Amino acid sequence: MTPAITASLLYNLVQCPKRVERDLFGDPAERDAVSPFVTMLWQRGTLYEAEVLASCRLTVLDLSSVKDAAEHERLTLEAMRRGEPLIYAGRIQAGGLVGIQDLLRFENGSYVPVDIKSGRAEEGGEDDHDGKPKLHYAVQLALYVDILEQQGLSAGRYGFILDVRGREVRYDLTTARGPKTRLTLWEEYKTALTTAQAIVSKTITPKGALASSCKLCHWYSPCVAGLRADDDLTLIPVLGRAIRDAMFDTIDSVSALAAIDPEAFIQKGKTVFKGVGAERLKTFHARARLLSDPNAKPYLKAPIALPSSEVEFFFDIEVDPLRDFTYLHGIVERRGGDNATERFVAFFTEDESPASERSAFADAISFLNSVPDATIWYYSKYERTIYRKLQERYPEVCSADEIERLFNPARAIDLYNDVVTRATEWPTNDQSIKTLAKYLGFSWRDNNPSGAASIEWFDRWVRERDPAVKARILDYNEDDCRATRVLLDGIRELAS
Ligand code: SF4
Repeated sequence: MTPAITASLLYNLVQCPKRVERDLFGDPAERDAVSPFVTMLWQRGTLYEAEVLASCRLTVLDLSSVKDAAEHERLTLEAMRRGEPLIYAGRIQAGGLVGIQDLLRFENGSYVPVDIKSGRAEEGGEDDHDGKPKLHYAVQLALYVDILEQQGLSAGRYGFILDVRGREVRYDLTTARGPKTRLTLWEEYKTALTTAQAIVSKTITPKGALASSCKLCHWYSPCVAGLRADDDLTLIPVLGRAIRDAMFDTIDSVSALAAIDPEAFIQKGKTVFKGVGAERLKTFHARARLLSDPNAKPYLKAPIALPSSEVEFFFDIEVDPLRDFTYLHGIVERRGGDNATERFVAFFTEDESPASERSAFADAISFLNSVPDATIWYYSKYERTIYRKLQERYPEVCSADEIERLFNPARAIDLYNDVVTRATEWPTNDQSIKTLAKYLGFSWRDNNPSGAASIEWFDRWVRERDPAVKARILDYNEDDCRATRVLLDGIRELAS
């Protein structure tokens, strides 16, 4: 029997079609264990749903305990026909689509889906500015609307996301995600549905593609092994699925790309590959050559001028994006370029209260300003973005101008954007701090170092107050700071 298409299947499809295919037809013995971070996300989602239901002012018909699918559908349909105002965990199905909806709400004589999410309803944008709809949320709402339409019970092509901030955000499925998107959300849903139908009927077998999200996927080990065996183009940093697919019929592997003359594919400053400009093709070609050469070494591709100062701060913060909470500011201080002088200074929030977050932020700012001519090294724009947010949240700690002075490029260097991506090339599959510092011989003390793992540890710290968990968070952050120093020294060696 062909598997039904569900909302979670479409959610996964938007992230990675290969994952859908592997979930349906892959060998379960090959699956990795589910990461503790992903388990934590599920648990938080369930808890948040319970909180929302408990605070609901309307009477909710709860169908979550009905186990038999046919009975579940019958009860949901009956409830909708009699006009129940709010139905929790109703099951609806039509035309090979099945949905177990968080909430079905009676509106305008029919029903509209409402999804409860423990994340933000939109992506992009700032704290107080709206972003745009998330495609993986939109396709789920659209599937429910599609089923309701087929049952003659839809209030219209729209739905709502009730997000972690308690906001109810309307998703109008008849509009596009943003000005640059040609298709409406409904059309994007239909495209995703067609792909899903082709996967469930085995008409197509999608290819995997190495991406940062793979690290949290339970198919990571077999997928990466397969991509390596295929010498897949997505092993090249930043190349990604869309460009791989655009190039694949002409150039199907890293070694094939390494062997080409890029000029042969460039005419009048453009390449024959959709979405790939001439300079990008040359960059991907250079990376393919590095990956294809077992003796390859990193190199500088542009001149760099790295400031030197008596005191250097290697700076890294830890943030729980679901709580929207910054729980650690870590700084490794080095004097005179001598690693023996290194010391780690940490400003940790002992609890998850705003007062604690404010106090750690204030202490970190004060420390960073304590040596005004120290160079601050950090990896990616994230630290600056979060500090701007924290300043808006706690304006009594410092002014916006102080934050801009702190991150003045003459003093604070974003090693990733200002140096690594602009001026260096590495024989690695990505340019994350983990990958590059490991390449240079650095090793983290933890056997599972990642930002996601740290968020899960902080969640445990909040619940259990286990000092060993706190120590793990601090050690991990300290190692991230040291890794930034190792990378800086490695780049200095390239420059010399
Ligand atoms: S590891 Fe990556 S490519 Fe493979 S199924 Fe998961 S997300 Fe897709």
